[in-house]
Order: sequence, then C-alpha cells, then structure tokens
Amino acid sequence: MTRVVVLGGGIAGLATAFRRTSPGETLVLEAAPRAGGSIRTIREDGFTLECGPNTLRTTEAAERLLADLGLEPDVVIADGKAPRWIVRGGSPRAVVPGPAALFNKVFTIAGKLRLLKEPFVAPRPASLEDESVHSFFARRFGEEAAVYGAGPMVSGVYAGDPRTLSMRSAFPKLWEAEGTAGSVVRGLLRKKEKKGGAAARAHHRARTLTFNGGLFTLIETLQNRLRERPGFHFEMNAAAVAIEGPRTPAPPGCRWTVRCGDGRSFDADVLVSTLSAPATARLLGNVLTRSAAALEAVPSSPVTVVMQAYRAPASANDAPRGFGGLIPQVEGFRSLGILYPASLFTGRAPEGFVLTTSFLGGALDRALAGAPDADLLAVAAAEVARFFPRLGPAARSWIARWPEAIPQLPLGHHRTLSALEQDLAALDAVAPGALHVTGGFRDGIALGERIASGEGIGKSLA
Ligand SMILES: Cc1cc2nc3c(=O)[nH]c(=O)nc-3n(C[C@H](O)[C@H](O)[C@H](O)COP(=O)(O)OP(=O)(O)OC[C@H]3O[C@@H](n4cnc5c(N)ncnc54)[C@H](O)[C@@H]3O)c2cc1C
Repeated sequence: MTRVVVLGGGIAGLATAFRRTSPGETLVLEAAPRAGGSIRTIREDGFTLECGPNTLRTTEAAERLLADLGLEPDVVIADGKAPRWIVRGGSPRAVVPGPAALFNKVFTIAGKLRLLKEPFVAPRPASLEDESVHSFFARRFGEEAAVYGAGPMVSGVYAGDPRTLSMRSAFPKLWEAEGTAGSVVRGLLRKKEKKGGAAARAHHRARTLTFNGGLFTLIETLQNRLRERPGFHFEMNAAAVAIEGPRTPAPPGCRWTVRCGDGRSFDADVLVSTLSAPATARLLGNVLTRSAAALEAVPSSPVTVVMQAYRAPASANDAPRGFGGLIPQVEGFRSLGILYPASLFTGRAPEGFVLTTSFLGGALDRALAGAPDADLLAVAAAEVARFFPRLGPAARSWIARWPEAIPQLPLGHHRTLSALEQDLAALDAVAPGALHVTGGFRDGIALGERIASGEGIGKSLA
C-alpha cells in the first residue's frame, strides 16, 4: 500500500489528501501549529474576521469540494451587486469589470477611446516572450489603463509591482488571448464563444462566497472529515528541513525520507509538495536540477492586514458599503486596498458595528508591512477616515502579518516552469508518480485554483 506524504497543510495540501481515493496511508506535514496556511479566521465577541483571503471565487473543483463536504448550508454568498471602487483624484469611483468599464469614472474620455482601440493595436512580435504587466497593458490598452486598471489589479491579486511582475505567468489567460487572436478583446470573445457550449453543458456558475464561520470553516471541515479516514495522519509543528531520495529501485514504503526540524523523520513512496517555490527548491534541489536555482529566487511580497471595527454611524451613507476597493500607487495612499467585509457578507460583525480590512505593504512598500503595530493602525485608520470622515475612531483593531504572502512571478518565469516540467518528467521516467509539485508559483494563487490543483493531484495518486 502506497504511503503518501503531503508537505504543507494549507488548502492545497488538505484538498490533495481529501481527494485521494486510492488505499494507503496519507500523512500531511505542517510546519505551523495549525492547519490552513494563508486561511485564518478570527472569531471573537461576535466578529468573524479574515486574516488572509476574504473570498472564495468558486471553480468547478471548489463547488465539488463544498458539495462533498456538505458545506452548502454554511455558505454565505457575497452581495453580487456590491460595488467595487478604484481611487482616482483622491476619491473612490465605482467600477464594473469588463466592457462596462467604458462607462465608469475611473478613466478619462481619452483613456476610454484608447481602450476601444485595443483590437486594432498590432499584435506582439513573435520575439516578445514575456513582459511586465504594466508594459502589456500600456501597449494594448494605453498608459492610463496600465496605471488605473492593471496597477490596482496587481495590488489586489498579487500585492505586487506591475513593472516587474510577469504578464505571461501572472495573467496567462490575457497573455494567451493576445497570442491566439492578436488582440486581447478578440481572444477573450472567441474563448467565450467556444466556452459557451461547454459551460452550458457543465452548468458551472462561479460564486463569490465565504461561510457562516468564515473561510476557516473549510479547513476545519476538511480536517474533521480527513480524521475519520483510516490511514490519514496530520502532523503539526512538523517543518520538513531535508529530504532524502528518491531511492530507485524503491524499497517498499521508503522511496523518500522526510526529515523534520525537531528530529522526527517520515518515509514515503510518494511526495506531494505544496510549499513555496524557494522551499520546494531547497528541499528537492537534488531532483529539480534544472529548475531549483530559479525556483529558489522567486520572491514573495509581504502583506500586513489591518482589520478594524467601527461603531456604525447614524447615517448608512457614512458607512462603508459594497465590496471595497483598490488604490493605484500614483494616488499617494499607502493602503493597497480596503475591503468592507460586513457589507459584503452578512454575519461578520455584531449589530451596531461596521468593518474595514486594509491591506498594507506589498512588493512596493515592504518596509510598511514590517512596521510596528501602532504605525500600521495609524496608517489604516487615517486612510479609512479619508473615505469615511464621519466614522470616528476604530473601536477595535486586529493585525495579521504575512511576511511571505504572495509569490511574485518574475519576467521569464515560464522558462523556470518548463525546466520544472522537465525535471519532473525525468524523475517520472525512473520513479513513476513519485513526486508532485503544486503551488501558487505554478498553477494559480486563487483559492479556487489551489483547490483544483489539490483535486487533480489527489485523484492521480496511486
Ligand atoms: C493576505 C492574503 C489575502 C488573500 N486573499 C485572497 C482572496 O481573497 N481570495 C483568494 O482566492 N485568494 C487569496 N489569497 C491567496 C490564497 O489565500 C493562497 O494562494 C492560498 O491560500 C495558498 O494555499 P496553499 O495551500 O497553496 O499554500 P499555503 O496556504 O501557503 O499553505 C502551505 C503550508 O505549508 C506550510 N509549510 C511551509 N513550509 C513548510 C515545511 N518546510 N514543512 C511543512 N510545512 C510547511 C505552511 O505553514 C502552510 O501552512 C490571499 C493570500 C493572502 C496572504
């Protein structure tokens, strides 16, 4: 019987373990004293606050997982009409994604006319194998779209620097759309037409959601269900520090040995890594000979999350309403964006309170992410007050620090991923199915994508 060791007890690791249907032992090794990785929910005095992700945008795999875990009664759907905003000229302007962006007040008339020209802009030269997100948007949609559209998008998804983040790796669908149709707009329309039939068959409608008890409910439910399974083990405070193997031919149950920082060691037939690119490279450098050096150099952005509760103002007009929004760097704020969790989802705060969640730091303001609590609270409160001057002082505040929050995919990252594929294929040739590698640096950072990766690996395990 095959013994699988999964490195990392975040959503990807737990989804992998849950989706394993073959018999045998599954051991998840988690460095921290709790599961969940980036998913962490504070439940305190009637507040339900997210330290990491706030929303799960479902993929088909995520919908399957929720259904199989019986979580539907716990689901809280985001207010679909909740407006989002982008700051321009110091004040928030409502935006709607897609073609309706032409009617928002974020872009000038000249900027909107430039957006409309996109289908007529010359396709990228074949020699251009990657470029920064800023450069891609400036080339295709104009400088204004790069600053006021792509910039906030990169802040919101990657807490990144649009001038260094790889377009090809960070937003592959848009990159491919231009590649296949010579225009992003034409490429997306073509894909939509093609998908129309398939989507209608699959009936998948993505939802943006959380749970009554916050996103950590997903982690707790997965853990509870996994604990009921014979052959499943979860080891916390078990940071893998060295890996030996693969041994070929493999002695039963002992192709790999994983050594942990506290001296424990665990043998495995199959390894699944859900760790960051540098951690994967350090542990598996002897196997990933073509890709390890580049993987080790993939940086992460630091993010510090400041959650604040305010007494609800007398007039609802003075309270945060909608989804929240993003702030382009040129606007001179220090928050990357601010969410309004109690407006987006029901049941996040006791009666009489409203909530804001400010994201600080990121690749462009690393020092702020590491600033003392008092400074972070002051920055967050001052910038919330610029939008809601009648809110008064925060009644309660919480801080969550993520020193390595999101991978920052550098230009040319696709070459690193090709080298990783080659490494994995070479290993597969001598030790079939012995190693699986997933992570935000490889197959998407959104929770829906992390769940899909876990499902794919879990189902493929022998
Ligand atoms: C502040 C923030 C906000 C976000 N917002 C959203 C959002 O709203 N929606 C969305 O879809 N996504 C969001 N994301 C992204 C999303 O949360 C992550 O991409 C996702 O949770 C990553 O899951 P994972 O299991 O791949 O990795 P992780 O959650 O990072 O899990 C990896 C695990 O491995 C463990 N580990 C590390 N080293 C070792 C070792 N040597 N040995 C054993 N274990 C180890 C870690 O402790 C961790 O638990 C956000 C992320 C952050 C940080």
